Amino acid sequence: MTKPLRFLLFYADTGGGHRATAQALAQGLKHRYGDAVDPVLFDGLRKYAPYPVSHLDDMYPWMSGMSKTWGRGWTQLNEPQRVQRFMKLWWPFVRTAAIRMAKEPCDAIINVQPLYTFPVLWAMDRIGMRKPFVTMVSDLIVVHALWCDPTTDRFLVPTEVSRVHALDNYIPPDKIQIVGLPIRLLFMAPPEPKPIARQRLGLKDKFTVLLMGGGQGLGRVYETAEAIGRSGLNVQLIVVAGRNKKLKEQLDAAHWPIDLKPYGFTQDIPALMDASDVLITKAGPTTICEAFTRSLPIIISGYIPSQENENADYVINNRAGVLAEDPELIVATLREWLHQPAVLVLFSQNSARLAHPRAAIDAAEAAYEVATTHPIVYRAPQGEPMLARLDRFFGN
Ligand code: UDP
Repeated sequence: MTKPLRFLLFYADTGGGHRATAQALAQGLKHRYGDAVDPVLFDGLRKYAPYPVSHLDDMYPWMSGMSKTWGRGWTQLNEPQRVQRFMKLWWPFVRTAAIRMAKEPCDAIINVQPLYTFPVLWAMDRIGMRKPFVTMVSDLIVVHALWCDPTTDRFLVPTEVSRVHALDNYIPPDKIQIVGLPIRLLFMAPPEPKPIARQRLGLKDKFTVLLMGGGQGLGRVYETAEAIGRSGLNVQLIVVAGRNKKLKEQLDAAHWPIDLKPYGFTQDIPALMDASDVLITKAGPTTICEAFTRSLPIIISGYIPSQENENADYVINNRAGVLAEDPELIVATLREWLHQPAVLVLFSQNSARLAHPRAAIDAAEAAYEVATTHPIVYRAPQGEPMLARLDRFFGN
């Protein structure tokens, strides 16, 4: 039997989305190619990056925390030349780690977190071992310049708008492929009828609102839950706190006149979406794409500035939902939708039109094609001859 093709999927837990994309892609590869592939999720930042970069995942909630400063920094950096300059300054700090990542045994790399792109590609040049490298953009609309090294072998994007952004960042057109945003394969199956999904979850069979804040439970989730809980609306409320332990504790202690079901981090998002009539969420790309497959009308309750506002625009411009940041406005929107079911149906149909349930399979096929047509190329190490010699001496 031939050895399975080993794919390393570079991700980090900065938000829940990168891991979700990597897991979906790994599932897609296994589903499509079975024992012929061996996809492995690899958090290179945690394993090899120097402190504090290794702990970016811990810092991400308060760094991004929907703050304007984070948004400004993110936007300032979003320009190809500026990213090049930034990466050159950054390089000495992450060089050794990037070389270790590049040397991890595998037949191909799939990158779903933008911080890896330049360092890992540069590291492969430095050591003279160029592995097939696929970039999978795990954002819905914005393609930050950090993703965009034109030497990548394939550049997979979720939407037509993101394809245009990739072109603006000098990715060669023949390398770009629109595949949708990979989401769990469970979302490929049609949704379970709501009464059955509700019964399985121990919920009542009535209008159900699902409230989420991404993998980290970010944003004004508690305030929104409280506003709905005290609104007198005839709904039941599911709230997913994700990894936000404090939020989960607050929700567990809440006593509002409503049927409330709080969750911490759960693997049951597909079932929770099946059971729901409406989703309230920050504009996280993966959550939004998952909701499209369940035809869920979406109330966007917030977004990480610069990173997620265009996701919000995408939902709103396609009339798959509305933006309502203030908890009272969210309640008012729910009240309106409850009284005008026809409006809800329209939003639901528009949401379904944006669904791309096969994205994980399409992305897997693209990655597999790259891995089987681009052999690993060995050549003389490029640049930094002194450092390269030192690396060899110290066995790096
Ligand atoms: N998620 C999950 N369980 C939870 C909370 C979130 O599986 O308890 C998943 C959610 O379904 C989605 C991902 O985490 O797949 C969140 O990604 P998104 O891009 O929406 O937001 P991020 O967390 O990256 O800001």
